[in-house]
This record gives sequence, structure tokens and C-alpha cells, in this order.
Amino acid sequence: MSTQLQTAPADLFDLHGDLVVVTGASSGIGQAAAEMYAAAGATVIVLGRSESRVADVVSGIASAGGTAHGFAVDVSVRGAVDAVLGRIVEEIGRPTVVVANAGIAGGASYLADGRLADYSDAEWDEVVATNLTGTFETVRAAARVLDRGGRILVTASTAGMRTDPMVSYAYVATKAAILNFVRQTALELAPRGIRVNAIAPGPFKGTRIGDGKTEISPEFEAEWASTIPLGRMGTMPEIQGPMLFLVSPASAFVTGAILAVDGGAVALSHTAF
Ligand code: NAD
Repeated sequence: MSTQLQTAPADLFDLHGDLVVVTGASSGIGQAAAEMYAAAGATVIVLGRSESRVADVVSGIASAGGTAHGFAVDVSVRGAVDAVLGRIVEEIGRPTVVVANAGIAGGASYLADGRLADYSDAEWDEVVATNLTGTFETVRAAARVLDRGGRILVTASTAGMRTDPMVSYAYVATKAAILNFVRQTALELAPRGIRVNAIAPGPFKGTRIGDGKTEISPEFEAEWASTIPLGRMGTMPEIQGPMLFLVSPASAFVTGAILAVDGGAVALSHTAF
């Protein structure tokens, strides 16, 4: 007996009628996700720290035929995400999806200049404020405004799923912390019909997370590629499908999950390569 199709494949990824808020959407993974959500039919709210970069992303989405609005917000400032979501509800409508994506790298790995004994208070505090407290602030603000059917997506990292000597101490610690925060939030919000998931990208190129530039040296790229079974870094279009999946009807029975998008990196054992 064949299973009857209840939903057409294209409808599984349709976001018409959704109002999707994305933090850290002024570059990199957040921008790529925002553009995909708009292409899938959602009205997108682009949040980022830089007003001019937010405006560029909003106008790029509009030129591609999508609908977007933008606001400048620093997620590490207490109450800032609540305030901007309040404005969005008043001026545009009630969000149905919130993507907590903003994040920073927090300096060098111990393989470079980031040895534990030298790791500065300032670096630690900034990363905790953005990656951990900023994610908490965003997800809590989302829990306050989302209705039944709402979705929350958190951008974590494979660096939170295992050790990663290529990145900083504060980065691995905060990314690990937000994964368990996602699982526990998923439990509380499930009876309200709100799904909460995390995406864990491996190394992607084309973002500003390293030193603010989207280009990286061929040597650095080769170093990262050597840690990936697929033999290369990810590219921006390759994060868009997974980011869409986790907020779309296609993932209706998925909550509390962590989706690694990493070319096989977390599957790697010391004997595998
Ligand atoms: P990116 O630097 O291009 O984007 C980060 C975005 O977050 C930018 O728009 C930045 O302005 C914003 N941001 C940073 N601090 C903020 C703050 N306090 N308030 C508001 N916005 C803030 O880098 P990206 O690689 O696209 O990073 C996006 C997310 O993906 C981060 O959470 C990062 O940890 C995660 N990630 C990236 C990779 C990768 O290889 N690039 C891998 C795993 C996880």
C-alpha cells in the first residue's frame, strides 16, 4: 500500500503568511537565511548592529521581489530584543518565526594566540554577552510574542558539539551552552505548539565571523578543509536549505533537535581519516 501524499513537496517549504525575524542578518549565514525565507514567501525582518548593512540586505531582498524590513539592534544589550520585537508587533505584525543567529568568534584558538592562560576577561565577557546572553534574550523575547505554531531556530555550531581546537574557548563554551538551552526550551514550549531547534554549522566561508572580511586565505581554507570528510568548507547556499527546513512545514514534527550541517565533520573519528 502506498503512502498518500498529504502535502505537495513545494508546500512543505512554503513560508507565505509567515513573519520571520532573523538576528545577525546583516551578513553571512543570517543574511543567507533571510534571503531564502523571503524567497519562500515570508515577510522578513532583518536585524543587525549596523544600520547601513541592514538597509543593504533589506533592499537586496526587495530587488529580488521579496518583502523585508530592517531594524538595528544589539542582542547583547539587555531588553533590546524585547523592545524591537514589541515595535515589530506594533508596526508590522506578530512574528511567527524567530531565528537567534547573531554570534561572534571571540578571538583566537589556543593553536594561535588564544591560550587559556592568556585569554582575556574582555574577550570572554563579550562572547558570553553575545552568543549566550544574546541568544537567551532573543529566545526569551520570542517565547513572549510567539503564538501556537511559532518556530524558534538557534544558530549554534559544531564547536558546541565536541572540542574544536580551531576556535576560541569562549566560542566552544557558549555554543555548547546554547545547545542544552535549546533542548530545555523545546520541552517547555512544546505544549504551546512552538517548536525550538538548533542548527550547527561546521566551517562555512563567505561570512564575516573571522576578522570581519568575507575572504579568507587559501592556506586557512585548506586547513579547515582538512578537518571535513567532504574535503571543503561549506558555501552560503548550502546553509539555506537546512535553515529553511527547520522553520518550514517540512519539519512539523521536529523539536529539540540539533542539525549539523558540516560536511561530515562531527561524524569524524580519529580512525576515520
Ligand atoms: P557573520 O559575522 O557574517 O555574521 C554574524 C552576524 O551577527 C553579523 O550580522 C553581526 O553583525 C551580527 N552580530 C554580532 N554580534 C551582534 C550583536 N551583539 N547584536 C546583534 N548582532 C550581532 O558570521 P556568520 O558566520 O554568518 O555567523 C552567524 C552565526 O553562525 C553565528 O552565531 C556563528 O557563531 C554561527 N556559525 C558560523 C560558522 C561559520 O563557519 N561561519 C560556523 C558555525 C556557526
